[in-house]
Parts: sequence; structure tokens; C-alpha cells
Amino acid sequence: MFAQVIVDIAHSQVDKVFEYSCPPETKVGCRVKVPFGGRIIEGFVIGLSETSAFAAEKIKPVTSVYDELPALVPECFSLMENIAERYRVPKAASLRLFLPSEMRLGKVNETYIKRIKFTGVEPSLSKAAKKQTEALAELKEKGDCEYVPLTKKYGSGAVNALVEKGAAEIYKVKRNRTPAYAEGDTSVKVLTPDQRGAVEYIENSPFRVNLIHGVTGSGKTEIYLNIIADKLREGKSAIFLVPEISLTPQMLAQLRARFGGQAAILHSGLSAGERFDEWWRLRSGEAKIAIGARSAIFAPLENIGAIIIDEEHDSSYRSETAPRYSTVDIARLRAEYNGCKLILGSATPSVESYIEATEGRYGLVTLTERINGRPLPEIIIADMRKEVKRGNPSNLSRALREELDETLSKGNQAIIFINRRGYSQTVICTDCGYVAKCENCDVSLTYHSEENCLKCHYCGAKYHMLSACPQCKGTHLRYSGTGTQRVVEELSRLFPSARIIRMDNDTVSGKDGHYKILKQFAEKKADILVGTQMIAKGHDFPAVTLVGILDADMSLHFSDYRSGERTFQLITQVAGRSGRAGDKGKVVLQTYSPENYILRFAVQYDYKSFFENEVKMRKAALYPPYSLICRVMVVAEKDDKALEALKNVFFAIDEIRAEDSGDFIFFNKMHSPIKRIQNKVRYQVLARLRSQKHLKQIYDIAVECTTPDALVYVEENPANLS
Ligand code: ADP
Ligand code: ZN
Repeated sequence: MFAQVIVDIAHSQVDKVFEYSCPPETKVGCRVKVPFGGRIIEGFVIGLSETSAFAAEKIKPVTSVYDELPALVPECFSLMENIAERYRVPKAASLRLFLPSEMRLGKVNETYIKRIKFTGVEPSLSKAAKKQTEALAELKEKGDCEYVPLTKKYGSGAVNALVEKGAAEIYKVKRNRTPAYAEGDTSVKVLTPDQRGAVEYIENSPFRVNLIHGVTGSGKTEIYLNIIADKLREGKSAIFLVPEISLTPQMLAQLRARFGGQAAILHSGLSAGERFDEWWRLRSGEAKIAIGARSAIFAPLENIGAIIIDEEHDSSYRSETAPRYSTVDIARLRAEYNGCKLILGSATPSVESYIEATEGRYGLVTLTERINGRPLPEIIIADMRKEVKRGNPSNLSRALREELDETLSKGNQAIIFINRRGYSQTVICTDCGYVAKCENCDVSLTYHSEENCLKCHYCGAKYHMLSACPQCKGTHLRYSGTGTQRVVEELSRLFPSARIIRMDNDTVSGKDGHYKILKQFAEKKADILVGTQMIAKGHDFPAVTLVGILDADMSLHFSDYRSGERTFQLITQVAGRSGRAGDKGKVVLQTYSPENYILRFAVQYDYKSFFENEVKMRKAALYPPYSLICRVMVVAEKDDKALEALKNVFFAIDEIRAEDSGDFIFFNKMHSPIKRIQNKVRYQVLARLRSQKHLKQIYDIAVECTTPDALVYVEENPANLS
């Protein structure tokens, strides 16, 4: 038999199918080892045939075949073609998406537990063989037990003697490494009429893609769980995606309570062993629900009945490494292949998705009420310009302090949110204006008081705290901006008896880091949780009645067409953490631009007006989805190599423009806003196009212009333009 093999080298020069002879047990989807260019490397079998078109002496045999059950499900091959074609990556690179990395490198394998059982054969034991007699008695009584503890008790000599005499048999069972999950409210709920209506709408909807626009606390999770339960009953499987790793333990707790071992979790925060075991549980059919972050869209499930993407607007659903895919696009392909529904849910749908719904290409379910008619929290605007005039230099407005006082005295909890992106504590010399910057990256450093050092948030480099300005030798160094740490310090001064915890990239470490902090807060072992983006989404803490947003307008000042949308989403999501159960919730939103219309809509929870305004604006200014922003990045160690590649990219695209200038709204080459990251220089060609028609050519140009010294890649409507 002959196998068509894709070798696991993601390089355009070997991006084709190779043929090997193979043993008869080989199946399509198996991983194999093959000789290739004088080495033995891994490959994937994508097809089998009885005959080969090549001469017999030209065909080499595969070295070995792994996987009794093929690791790749048949659907992988159609997705592989789509992804390779759409994002212009080698087929091997798209196949890699379907396998956890530790499986490809062969680093992790199953772990087994040795067990021993009584065979029913009575051995003849001499009187002297006391240990054997005792061990046999215990084994006969239990019938079957773990091997190691038995040998510890009676000695391995005695136990092995029983095996030799045929009285006992050793066997192995697979041990699953199971990830931790949170406890929480896992009771099954009776659906409200709105929830039931949503489930029914989706099941009967003629649309492939259906959007649930439901305010925070409207019970979307319960809708998802019901759809999943229905699909399991039909014998099908389901994929359930959530945006943040920190959300998965809570979701998994609910799924485990409801579906037991049928739910498996997949994400990068797991240990390699855990991920390996969870992955095989899905592949073997033991588990039928894959839950996880973005990469779980590649779960090895067959016969999928529903794909759910919660918080669909979240930017983490876009991959920032090659292939730079959009999770919704992949999900749609899988839904088409399996003939199932794709369900997108959000309190603040992305403008793109909502347009699809309003223009009749997606089904739409709208939930305007919180469960039990609980009101959405009142949002109070604190005008920080007035605070400054009043002589309050603090990061906390008077309104926020008063509300905090009241919340704490009632024994409730508060969340303080800082939109730290681009607004952290930097060190400035007040004499000459020097700002401490990273040596490897073109960004300013952030002061960390706990370690008394400066850190770069892009590459992680650490620097000694400065005692004097390196530029003018002056000693008047000042911190500017607000970091989470500084806020915690201020809060502890103002509320000395409050228990405060902080959650950001610096306090979250290890694979259970998020989970531990959230658990601590959920168990009310802390009164105030201070954090960044990480705490904005999804969490359901019943005792939280106050949310403070310290710098609501920071993200408004990014020069990016999405900044308004992002600000609206952030405020709505963070506010949604307040008042979910007991007392009515409140939100204090601090801003320097209280008259801004985005903030006005957010305060009223007026998604519709926000949306209409946004659409009008984007249509008029020709921003996505009414155009396509295409950024071609050029990243290199050496400036001259980067510039050479940049020139090639620019002139190649300029040729397209010469033919069809009407499609180009904007076109130029420039330094990227951050000129250097990890000692690599960054340039870009930025194009805004009226249509998608030249996209494929631009991807091709990126591949052609990549050299050993310069990486060139395409980003479509990038979420982050730094
Ligand atoms: P969302 O995801 O829309 O923000 P959740 O799914 O977290 O909302 O639900 C909000 C709260 O309402 C949760 O505490 C949940 O347990 C509760 N809940 C949801 N559905 C019901 C129901 N049918 N009956 C009672 N409580 C419910
Ligand atoms: Zn750096």
C-alpha cells in the first residue's frame, strides 16, 4: 500500500504531498515517521492508494506508523486546504493547528497505572511463603487492585511470585490527568420564557450563523448549556469557546456538573500532560464537549451538533501568529462541514457581526432583560477634570471613594478596573524629560514597586531602578501614569481594613494562577479586586455591587477605527460584573471627557444607538467592514534587510495599485508605531482597500518577499496596530 504524506516542515518549498510505501495497518489521518532529505521526520497521512504512479525504486517505506486511532479526523483535510489557501500558509502549518504541540514533538505520552488482578488460579504455596499467602488473600478479597501499593505492603518479590505462578496478572490502565476546575453554582435551572424562546429560535432558524445579543446577566450560559444538552441527546458533539483562559475553570465546573466526563477542556494554560489526555478523550469519543479558548476550535471532534462562541466580539479570537486566522471564519467552515449551527453570543456584539444580523445574513436573538428582571447597574460619571480642579490628586474620584465606603460597610465586594494598556507607570526625569526605555524594544519601561525594578511589558526584560537620570544626571525622577500596583497602594491607605487583591500579568503565574485569585475572590476572602482587562469579562461574582472604571477614556485616544467600539464594549462588560445577584449594582466611570458620545451611549446601555452611529461613521469614512485594512508587516534583525524587503513589498503592491487605483483608499509604507520589539525592527505597508479582490495577491507578495533575513506577513483588519 502507498501513503500520501505531508511532512511536518512548514516551509513553502516542501509544501507538497510525498508518497511512501506503508504497512497495511496504516490509516488516513495517522502520524508517521518518514525518511526525508537524509533525516527521519514526522509526517501526516492524508491519503492511501493501492498503486503508485512512481517507479518502485523511487519509493521509500515509512519508518513507523503511530496512532491506532488516526490522530487527524477526516474533516481536518478539508479545513487544511481552506486554511492553507485562505491564509497562504504551507499545509503542514495548517495541519499543526489540529494537534496539541506536545503531541507533534512526541514529548508527552499517555501515563499508565499498573494494576493487578486475581486470575482464579489457586497456586500451591509452601507454609514458609507467608508474604505470598497474605498478598494472595488480599488480592482474592479485592479481586483487583493497584500494583504498587500491594508491593509496598508485601514486597515485590512476593507479588511477582504470584504472577509467575499464574495466580495474578498485571495490566495497565490509562491514567487521565484532569485539569483543575472551580466550584460554583451548578444547579440546573428552569429556563425563563426568553431563554426557551432563544433555544427554540436557534434550533429552528434557517440561518447557519445565529447571534445572541443579550445584556450582561441575561442568562446566555444557560441557553448554551441547553443547546449542548439537546445535541448530546441526538448523539452529537459540541464545541464551546470562551475568550479568556481565566474563564474556563468556571465554565468547566458548570459543564462538568451537568455533563460529567463528557466535557473536556483544551487551552494553553494546561500542563502538556493534561492537554494531551483531554485531547485524546475528545478524539476517542469519550468526551463530547470541547471547551476552551481560541485554539479549541480545532478540537478533534466528529459529528459536531453545535459550535458556540461566547463573547464573540473579543479580540482574543484572532490569532496573532501564523496562520492569522479569525476563529469565527474557521467555526463557520466547521459548521458548514458538519451541517450544524454556529452560535455567537455577546452583550456587545462586534459591529461586523451585528451588521450581518441586521442585514439578514445571521439569525438574531435579542435578550434585553437580566434574569429575574434585575436592573442593570446605574453608571455614575465622575468628571476627573473637576477632581483635579478641586485639588484631588488621587486616582480615585470622590464619588468612587464614597461608593467604596458604602459597599464595604455593607459587606459587599468591589472590582476596580484599570485599562492599563499604554497607561502604566513610567519613569520621567522632570529636569530633562528623559523617559526610561527598553534596550530591545521601542517602548517605555514600567516601574514595579514590589521588586523595585523596571520591566518591559513587551519582552519581559528587567532593569535596575534608576537613582539618577542617565541623560542629565539629575535626581528629580517622577513616576507618571497609573499602574495596578499604585492603585492598590492608594486603596490600602484609604481603606486600611479592606482586603485587596490584584490580578494582572504580574500576579498571575503558573497554570492555575487565574483560577486561584478568582477563587479567593469568589469565596469572599477579599473585598476589592483590582485588575486589568483580565477581570473585565464573563465573571459572575454575586456579592459584587460596585465596579470602578478608573480611566474609561484611555482607549478612546488610540488612533484606530475600533477605539470607540472597544471602549463601549469594555465599559459594558466591566459594568456587567456589578449587581448580578443580591443588592442593586453601581458603576463609577471616571473620565476626562464626559461629553464623549461613546461614553454617553455606554452609560445608557444603548447598544442600538451606539451601533447606528458607528455604522454611519464607518460608512462615511470607509472603515471596515466597508473597507479592508491590510497591513503587511516586515520584521527583521537588520535595518537594511528590513528596508530591502519593505521596498519589494511596497513596489509589488504598487503594481496592483497602478492597475486598479480605484480599489485603494489609502496606501503607504512606514515604520510601525512600535519601531522595535525584542531587538527586531518593524516596518509596515498599510493599505485600505475597497474590496477583498486583491487580498490573495497581497498574501502571495508577502510569501514571495520573505527572505531568510526578513519575515513578511499580512494582517487583515488588525486588532492591534502597534
Ligand atoms: P450572561 O452570560 O448573559 O451574562 P449568565 O449566564 O452568567 O448571564 O447568567 C446570569 C445569572 O443568572 C447567573 O448567576 C445564572 O446562574 C443565573 N441564571 C441564568 N438562567 C437562570 C434561570 N433560568 N433561572 C435562574 N437563574 C438563572
Ligand atoms: Zn523590551
